[in-house]
Parts: sequence; structure tokens; C-alpha cells
Amino acid sequence: MPFYVAVGVSAAIAGLAWMLRALSSRGALAAAVVGAAILWPTGWAGCAVLGAFFVGSTLVSRVAARATGPSDQTDTQTRDHRQVFANGGLAGLGATAEWLAPGLGFWLATVSLAASGADTWATAFGGLSPRPPRDILTRQPVPAGTSGGVTWFGSSGGFMGAASIGLVAVTVGGPGRLLLAAAFIGQGAMLLDSILGSAGQARFHCPRCDTATERPIHRCGTPADLIRGRAWLDNDAVNALASGAALVAGLVTWWLAGSA
Ligand SMILES: [Zn+2]
Repeated sequence: MPFYVAVGVSAAIAGLAWMLRALSSRGALAAAVVGAAILWPTGWAGCAVLGAFFVGSTLVSRVAARATGPSDQTDTQTRDHRQVFANGGLAGLGATAEWLAPGLGFWLATVSLAASGADTWATAFGGLSPRPPRDILTRQPVPAGTSGGVTWFGSSGGFMGAASIGLVAVTVGGPGRLLLAAAFIGQGAMLLDSILGSAGQARFHCPRCDTATERPIHRCGTPADLIRGRAWLDNDAVNALASGAALVAGLVTWWLAGSA
């Protein structure tokens, strides 16, 4: 796709997302950059996969938020630039590999977006779970929305999210094996996300509301105290690490699929 078309289409979609309040103004700028990085090398096929990720993630998050009411997970439906780069930055980087080997960039962008999509879908579906989540490592019940907490609802939702992105990728011309790769790499990244979330992610406590939160600034505006985990390892950092692992797994599966 010509560069100016990639920039134009990405900017138009990011602008629309900003008007719908799915993205903050900086988030929209970041999305235009990430979108152009995906569209320029991978064209309309990449655009379809990015669209599947964005539309699917936004829809399930909003439906779940409506069903469960506000929480730390769902009150920030407007995504900022950090969230955009954490979820899509590596997909943009992976897409540029299209210039190294035709098909590789599309493959990498798809599995990376499947990983991010799985996490978003899992969060949304997990919020609808009739049972409280259990920590993936300790198996202890934890409050809904806690990082590292998993439910069957959430895990199934994550799998559907990753598979839906893989399905769109195959529909627009990707190889059949990409559906399998997207579904399983998405599931694996989601698992890694939960393990990192349980083992090391920063947990804070808001002294004003006397409540647990995963954000250094609670949504009431009060700076929260770090009670465990590493301060730098917030939800965005965990997402970026899972997305990076998905990219590596994407390279391995591309090589395996090519040599099979
Ligand atoms: Zn507070």
C-alpha cells in the first residue's frame, strides 16, 4: 500500500476512534502511527486484521463494562498512548518484516494482535464470570479484576478473541495455518500475561478509599502506595512483554510452517 494511503487510512480510523472516545488524543496519535506501520507493509489485509482487533476489543470491553458497572478494569475505556503502544507497537514492528520476506510481516502482525486481543477479550469475559477468579499460580480466589486472576469464562473469551483475529487473517488471504498460530499464540500470551500479573505486577493501595488498585494513581485521583510487586511492571508493561513473547513465537511458527 502506498505510504500516503497507509497514513491517511490510519489517521481517519484513529480520528474516528477518538471521536467515539475509544482513544484519548495522544492515544489516537499513537494509533495513527501504529496503524500506518502495519498498513504500509501489509496493505488492506493488514488493515482488516487490525480492524478485527480494534472493533472486537472495543465492542467486548464496552458490552462487559455495561454489564458489570465501573471498576479499575472497565472505567478506562478510553485508551491512551501507552496502552496503544503496549498492545499494538510490536505488531507494527513485526509488520515491517513484510519487506524481509513476503507474508512474514502479515503473520507476525496477526499473532501479535491476537495476543493483545486475547488479553482484552479475557478481561471482558472474565468480568462476566459467575465465579470469582483464582490466582493462576496460588489457586487462591482473588477479587474480580485482579491481575493474575483467571476464570474459565475469561480464558474461553480470550481464546475466542485470538481465534476471531486469526479467522479474519485467513479470510483475507492469510495461510490456513495462521488461524492455528494466532489462536494458540494468543492463548499462550494470555497465560504468560496472567503468570507475570500474579508473580510480579505492581499492586497499589489507595489510602483515601482504602481499596486495592493496580494503578499508581487511583481513579479518585489520589497517589496510591506500592504494596507488592515491581512499580515499573504495570499492566502496560506486562502486556508489552506478552506481546514480545508472541512476536518471538510468531517467528518460530513462521519458520516451522515454512519448513514443514
Ligand atoms: Zn482512591
